[in-house]
Amino acid sequence: MEHQHAYEVSIVVPAYNEQTALDEFYRRVRSVTDALPDPVELVFVNDGSTDDTLKVMESLRERDEHVTVVNLSRNFGKEIALTAGLDHAAAHGAVVVIDADLQDPPELISLMLSKWREGYDVVYAKREARHGETAFKRATAHLFYRVIQRLSRGVSIPQDVGDFRLLSRRAVDALLRLREQHRFMKGLFAWIGYPQVAIPYQRDPRFAGKSKWSYWRLWNLSLEGITSFTTAPLRLATYLGLLTALGGFVYGLFIIYKTLVYGEPVQGFPTLITAITFLGGVQLITLGVIGEYLGRIFNETKQRPLYLVQDYHPAQPLRERAHSDRST
Ligand code: UDP
Ligand code: MG
Repeated sequence: MEHQHAYEVSIVVPAYNEQTALDEFYRRVRSVTDALPDPVELVFVNDGSTDDTLKVMESLRERDEHVTVVNLSRNFGKEIALTAGLDHAAAHGAVVVIDADLQDPPELISLMLSKWREGYDVVYAKREARHGETAFKRATAHLFYRVIQRLSRGVSIPQDVGDFRLLSRRAVDALLRLREQHRFMKGLFAWIGYPQVAIPYQRDPRFAGKSKWSYWRLWNLSLEGITSFTTAPLRLATYLGLLTALGGFVYGLFIIYKTLVYGEPVQGFPTLITAITFLGGVQLITLGVIGEYLGRIFNETKQRPLYLVQDYHPAQPLRERAHSDRST
C-alpha cells in the first residue's frame, strides 16, 4: 500500500504578488475541500513575489498541515510556476490547477471531481462570460483562439478556456514529460489528448490586485502559442516569397513589352524605389519569422532547467487512515 503520499487530490496554485487574495482564496477552497471525505493537498507556488505572498503561504501552512509551499528562486512566469506546482503535487488521483486571484471559482472543483470519477482525464472550465474585462480584451482573445484553431490542425485547443482544470494522474505525468522551455500551457494541455470534457462557468473579476497580463504580454503569449504549435508562418513566408517573385517576374515581362512597343526614355525612378522597398520589406518580414523560430530553437538547445526552487516545504504525508484499512 502506498501510504507515503496518500493524497488523492492536490490543488496547485501559482501565485505572484497575491498577498491580499490568498487568505480569502484559502477560505473558499477549503470550504469546498472540507466537504470531501479525504484531506486535499494544497500546493502553493510562490513565483518570486515582491510582496508578502510567501509569508501568507507559510502562515497558512502553519495552520494547515495539508499545505505544501514551493518557493521559486525568482519570478519565472505563470506557465512555469504552474509546472513547478505540478511537479510537486503529491496526489495519486487527480490534480486541480487554479488561479489564486479567485477568478476561477473554487466551488467548481467538486463538479470537476465528479466528472473525473466518471472517467475523464482532463476536466476543464470553459468561460461563459467575462466580467470586468474590456470589450477589446474579449475581442482580441476571441481572435486569438480563432487563429490558433485554424493553424494548429490535429491538436484542437478549446476556446475560452484558461488553465483552470483538473488533470488525472496519468494526464499530469504525460504533461510533465513535455519539458519544453516555451510553455504554451493551453496547447500542451490539448496535446496530451485523453478523454477531456468541458464544464461551463462564469469568470469572475479579480478579487484584489491587478492582472499581470498587459497587452504586450498577451501579444507575446499569442506568438508563443503560434510558434510552439505550428510552423505555418514559415510556410506562409515561403508563399509570400513565391508570390512576390511571381509578381516581380510578371512585372518584368510587362516592362520589356512596354519598352519594345512604346520605347522607354529614362524614367521609372518611383517604380524602382517602390520595388526595392517592397522587396526589402518582404525579406525582412520573412527573416523575422525565421528568427522567431530560430530563437526558440536556441532557447531549447540550452536545455536549462525550467525553474529553480529556493524552499520546498511539503505537506505532512497522510497517515494511514485507520478505519478504512481495518474494516477490510
Ligand atoms: N501568476 C504567476 N506568475 C506570474 C504571473 C501570474 O504565478 O508571473 C499567477 C497569478 O498570481 C495568478 C495566476 O497566475 O494566480 C493568473 O495570473 P493573472 O490573474 O495575472 O492572469 P489573468 O487572470 O489575467 O489571466
Ligand atoms: Mg487573474
